[in-house]
Amino acid sequence: MSNFDADVIVVGGGIIGVAVAAALRGQSVLVVDSGSPEFGTSSANAGHIVVSHATPFAAPGMVGQGIRSLLARDGAFALSPRLPLSGLTWLARFTSHCTSSNAETLTPGMLSLLRNSASGVRSLGIPTSSHPIWEVFTGHGSQDRATHEADHMRDLGIDTALIDPELVSEAEPLLLPRNLSVVELREDFGVDPQLLWETLKVTNDQATFLTNHTVSGIDASPDSVRVHLGSTTLSAPTIVIAAGAWTPNLTRLLGVSLPIIAAKGYSITVPDLETNVQHPMIFADEKFVVNPLGNSLRISSRFELTRANDRSIDPQQIRHMYAQAKTVVDLPNLPQSLESLAPWTGVRPASADGAPFIGPLRGMPHVVVASGHGMIGTSSAMGTADLVARYIRGGSITTAELALTPNR
Ligand SMILES: Cc1cc2nc3c(=O)[nH]c(=O)nc-3n(C[C@H](O)[C@H](O)[C@H](O)COP(=O)(O)OP(=O)(O)OC[C@H]3O[C@@H](n4cnc5c(N)ncnc54)[C@H](O)[C@@H]3O)c2cc1C
Repeated sequence: MSNFDADVIVVGGGIIGVAVAAALRGQSVLVVDSGSPEFGTSSANAGHIVVSHATPFAAPGMVGQGIRSLLARDGAFALSPRLPLSGLTWLARFTSHCTSSNAETLTPGMLSLLRNSASGVRSLGIPTSSHPIWEVFTGHGSQDRATHEADHMRDLGIDTALIDPELVSEAEPLLLPRNLSVVELREDFGVDPQLLWETLKVTNDQATFLTNHTVSGIDASPDSVRVHLGSTTLSAPTIVIAAGAWTPNLTRLLGVSLPIIAAKGYSITVPDLETNVQHPMIFADEKFVVNPLGNSLRISSRFELTRANDRSIDPQQIRHMYAQAKTVVDLPNLPQSLESLAPWTGVRPASADGAPFIGPLRGMPHVVVASGHGMIGTSSAMGTADLVARYIRGGSITTAELALTPNR
């Protein structure tokens, strides 16, 4: 194949790639992916749409939390023995970004992406959770910490409420501890991430998907871009690099180093529950999240810095995650066969300052990056895609959105 006639080539068919293809309706798009989509990170994640996650992950207090987690046995944040040396440079940069000024610079753009996405997802008409997300605090000082969290959300202008403790066990009989403090995040909800991906994939009838093809080279000229797939060369006026945790491999081909590292997380899906929880929930102290999907419960946890191709599943982590969840949710006993829980891992593309990179590379107006979404790729995909489409079509970009440039 050569000179495939597409207006835009998108590298990466995860949630960001398919959302970009969908937002470019009316234009022809070729989405190239090295594997099948299941190889990426977008299929069996927690499926939380979290407007509340508008503050970048690199924020004041995160270094202390990270160190405590590293010291704890089975902490949610971990360093894999497979972590490449570049991971240490990433850690140093992450540490230096955990400042209030980083949060102030990046939060407005992230909030606008997330809000735009949440309303985009709702407009698709796919099933969403019937209740908003609850953030649950169980440990020491839970009441104060919940109040502090609710105040922080209100400062950001996010619709939030503290739930009367009396009403918590009435609304969620499967929650076990009695002294819970709950913040209701009213703009947040749950979806099935695979269904969202499938819906966006078929939105643009001029989008073509080329799977099992790896982009091995990119040449950018002032007018167009050439993309090499082994011995085959494709050209198009514009390329979008949406390759998740693999994005630095591609920008490096253009001489640009982007600080993105793979942060592996796990999910399991408990099937056939007689009674399910009602709200998608974030357990702030136990560091895991749940999302009811029909009569199944998706449980997800862990942030382990590693290599992008590390999809290994440690059964010990699955057992630990289940045991943690069982301390707060009334679940059946761990099944004998872990396979019945459909264990899954994905690698979040984590940027060193905790915000995604969206926009053209400096001096290469036809090469647009959309990556580094870390924990919020599913939540912010449609907003990201709308922003990418405006860059490509010459639409207006706000100052807050400009702050997300990959040239920062
Ligand atoms: C356990 C877990 C739970 C999560 N929960 C949530 C959540 O509740 N809410 C939320 O918003 N986010 C969540 N996330 C984060 C979310 O999954 C990611 O941010 C998102 O999937 C990233 O999407 P992506 O399209 O950038 O990358 P991916 O889905 O990884 O897609 C990138 C694609 O690029 C392809 N590719 C790479 N290199 C090349 C190449 N050279 N040529 C061609 N193709 C290439 C890959 O094959 C891959 O398919 C979670 C992540 C994990 C791991």
